[in-house]
Amino acid sequence: VQPYEGKAKRVTATGKDEVAIYYKDDATAFNGQKHELFAGKGALNSQITEGLFKYLEAEGIRTHHLGRIDARTLKARKVEIILLETIVRFKVAGSLQKRTGLEDGTVVDPPVVEFYYKSDALGDPLFNDDHIAMMKLATPQEVATLRSQALAAAIRLKELFRRAKIDLIDLKFEYGRTPKGIVLADEVSPDTCRLRDLDTGEKLDKDNFRLGIGDLLTGYREVLRRLDPVWGR
Ligand code: UDP
Repeated sequence: VQPYEGKAKRVTATGKDEVAIYYKDDATAFNGQKHELFAGKGALNSQITEGLFKYLEAEGIRTHHLGRIDARTLKARKVEIILLETIVRFKVAGSLQKRTGLEDGTVVDPPVVEFYYKSDALGDPLFNDDHIAMMKLATPQEVATLRSQALAAAIRLKELFRRAKIDLIDLKFEYGRTPKGIVLADEVSPDTCRLRDLDTGEKLDKDNFRLGIGDLLTGYREVLRRLDPVWGR
């Protein structure tokens, strides 16, 4: 299904096995109900995603990333996106806070992995393994792969962010099928991670926009500034 336009990115085929992913300046929340433009967000998220994917590749984790096309466009391997959001949580926040009633920031150890069905019409409902099988979204073997790959990638990212004095609270991954197996796809950025200052807890991610409490771009720029010296590009 190409070209594909999402809320924050546009994907177009550029070759038989390659796509261009254009990072838009749009920020959305609450399933698209809240929407604003932030000039420069697309370029920032493309740089953060590129750096994190290169770091993960160096750590032995396979991603769809192939290279950069321009200031806000990345080149990636064409994949068949699995219609699941795989979320890894190291501390309680957001929907886990609402579901459990635990205080925001409570440590989650061992980390929790969750799957949500990617469906705007349904508002991305939480799915367990049986729901995934029932809806034929992935095989049980694929679900096991998603779980182990997501945990491995999240643990490495948590360590990288810690070196940047950033606390990785939780994050969302998307995976794609290729002829050679499942690879990490989509993006990893302050749009898809909860990131807070390690010492002060100051929010550096999309929560500033979701909750209307701080400047989104200031946080995203700070994330890039702190990652730059530690991710070894
Ligand atoms: N997340 C995302 N896309 C979504 C839903 C969640 O990238 O459609 C990310 C979100 O940024 C956070 C993590 O997944 O880092 C967990 O989100 P949560 O389930 O708490 O939902 P939220 O409170 O963001 O609605």
